[in-house]
Amino acid sequence: MDTAEVVVVGAGVAGLACARELARAGVAVVVLEARDRIGGRIRTARIAGEAPGELGAQVIHGEAGPAARFSREGGLRTAPLERGGRLVFSVDGRVFDASELLAGGGVAPWTLERELGGTHAEVSVGEVLAARSTSGLDLAIAREWLIHRWGGHPDELSAAGVADAMRAPAAGAGELVVLEGYDRLPALLASGLDVRLGRVVRRIRWSEGSVEVEVGDGAMTARAAVVTVPPPAVVERRLAFEPALPSARMAAARAIDLGDAVVLCASTSEPAPWSAWALVVGEYGGLWHVQAGSRLVTASFRNRAAAAVRRTGIDPPLVERLIAPVLPWIASETIGRLHMADWGGDPFTLGAYSYPRVGFLDAPRGWAAPLGSTVFFAGEATSVEGYRGLVDGAIESGRRAAQEVLASRSSR
Ligand SMILES: Cc1cc2nc3c(=O)[nH]c(=O)nc-3n(C[C@H](O)[C@H](O)[C@H](O)COP(=O)(O)OP(=O)(O)OC[C@H]3O[C@@H](n4cnc5c(N)ncnc54)[C@H](O)[C@@H]3O)c2cc1C
Repeated sequence: MDTAEVVVVGAGVAGLACARELARAGVAVVVLEARDRIGGRIRTARIAGEAPGELGAQVIHGEAGPAARFSREGGLRTAPLERGGRLVFSVDGRVFDASELLAGGGVAPWTLERELGGTHAEVSVGEVLAARSTSGLDLAIAREWLIHRWGGHPDELSAAGVADAMRAPAAGAGELVVLEGYDRLPALLASGLDVRLGRVVRRIRWSEGSVEVEVGDGAMTARAAVVTVPPPAVVERRLAFEPALPSARMAAARAIDLGDAVVLCASTSEPAPWSAWALVVGEYGGLWHVQAGSRLVTASFRNRAAAAVRRTGIDPPLVERLIAPVLPWIASETIGRLHMADWGGDPFTLGAYSYPRVGFLDAPRGWAAPLGSTVFFAGEATSVEGYRGLVDGAIESGRRAAQEVLASRSSR
């Protein structure tokens, strides 16, 4: 049976940041990853002749956080996220821009979002919005906007949790993209580590000071394990524990919702004549983005819309039908290969990312607590301190778990 001092389950940025810290402290650490690639929810599509397209995380939120810092230290080139260009809304076939919304007496979604910053009560964003006397249209746009900004459905999203995150952005100001592609960041973190791909961990048998990790028809033993898989993988028993996890911990795992997302990148034969963000509201509601001169179009579908895309699939005629009113130069025959990431349908993620869920703001702490000095937990879903759901939160959680492992080692 193969052995290591510490086994890390998952080679997303949480697992890699953890293993990196452990390896630096002289620990013999092995990372076991189910997929045939590292990076987890960071996944970049490369289309010849175009800038990289992001199918998972796209933005580094804040110039002072660990993602920005590691990128800088590793020599990756970053640039501010392009927020410019037209912003258009499409609701029930009606297309208009922000100035038309405001001219008609409507309230912009970002104004409604800012107002959430003053919320302290533990109520849902949906309740706060409904209590405000906005027109049906404003509300529909704001709900879709907030889903894309925060991940959770407004009726599940905690207004106090959003307010907290807006009051104290842990990583400071600025939104950056990695010009070489976001997947260069996990590649940097993985450098020099023993990462084994294609290793699906099915079961962790543990007793104080020892773990046996079942992988395929083999196993690995270690003194400790760090688990970074998203909680739904444990709730759905894709990864089991022996003895079973205590019921309070399983309740915490169930309380953490990752929302759902399907992301699409497509090449087009026509370069975009202008930069645009298009927020489409409806059954296939999504956020579309093109940059002037680029032949790449990206779209993100969340929650109900992600389920619709998963159910029907998406092809160039559907893309044309959805965006012809807002990005009229894109027609079915101009669309090349579609690259798609179905995060909710992916057995190793089963969702997109965690968000502050109303009534369950403390669930990440319950999920993060170690089992004795033997099984430790990391991953974005364990992160609360201003980084919830983000790459920064995942990295920080990995480093926190590494410190816990090291502390348990020195106290033995
Ligand atoms: C569509 C989308 C957009 C996003 N946008 C942003 C953004 O703009 N900015 C931002 O900061 N964050 C964003 N995020 C969130 C960010 O991607 C995540 O917070 C972060 O990447 C999570 O890292 P992690 O290591 O915690 O988890 P993961 O990246 O999910 O890593 C967990 C790893 O465990 C592996 N695994 C699972 N089960 C097993 C098993 N049984 N055995 C072995 N391995 C297993 C998985 O394959 C995976 O590699 C986005 C996420 C999505 C999906």
